[in-house]
Amino acid sequence: MSSIAKNIESVKTKIGNATLIAVSKTKPVVAILEAYEAGVRDFGENYVQELVDKHKELPKDIRWHMIGHLQSNKVKFIAPFVHLIHGVDSIKLLEEINKQAAKNNRVIDCLLQVHIAQEETKFGFFPNEIVDIFRSESLDKFQNVWIKGLMTMGSNTENIIQIEKEFLEVKELFEKLRSQKAEAGMENSGRSNFSLLQSDFLSMGMSGDFELAIKCGSNMIRVGSLIFGERNYKPKS
Ligand SMILES: *Cc1c(COP(=O)(O)O)cnc(C)c1O
Repeated sequence: MSSIAKNIESVKTKIGNATLIAVSKTKPVVAILEAYEAGVRDFGENYVQELVDKHKELPKDIRWHMIGHLQSNKVKFIAPFVHLIHGVDSIKLLEEINKQAAKNNRVIDCLLQVHIAQEETKFGFFPNEIVDIFRSESLDKFQNVWIKGLMTMGSNTENIIQIEKEFLEVKELFEKLRSQKAEAGMENSGRSNFSLLQSDFLSMGMSGDFELAIKCGSNMIRVGSLIFGERNYKPKS
């Protein structure tokens, strides 16, 4: 077994039914194929050009996740094929995704990014903004996007207690959105009101903190370096 396959096996034994997204940014196509041979079909990328190139070269049954910060003017390049956009952090971006999805005659699944970390450099909506979005009907006009849940990144710190606190807060928000919807009795309704807002996926946890994230209720983890090894360069987006 290759070391990539071994690493995947090892992560999988620790995450139950959660979805593993192998974060392949900066890694070559041969490394992705090794993970593919080991059964992985979900891959995460941060940079649009790299994502487009890899999509072209690699097997068509791969589900490509855009996990990095996405600029509105680049949405058009990934709209034809992207499986899930994790980092939706503004209504303006959502509007553009909706527009490009319509052009491609499809509905694009998205996660709203929650800003929970202490760093100001992180992107995302604050928890109270997300509650407001789920309550309002302001997104009804977006018929070509489907919000499927939340994504977050914990603080970049060694302080486990801090990260755990953040993860639990996002999990609580995730459950709150779910029950709000259930209360309104809209789980099974058509695409009206906030039926296009679902709380299915909680994308939380990376190489350094995925076990903690799973413990805190994550059902989708994004793991890169633990599978493919350290990254030693950062291409331009
Ligand atoms: C790079 C990246 C990851 C993976 O990071 P690792 O620490 O290598 O597992 C996960 N999520 C996002 C948003 C990233 O940018």
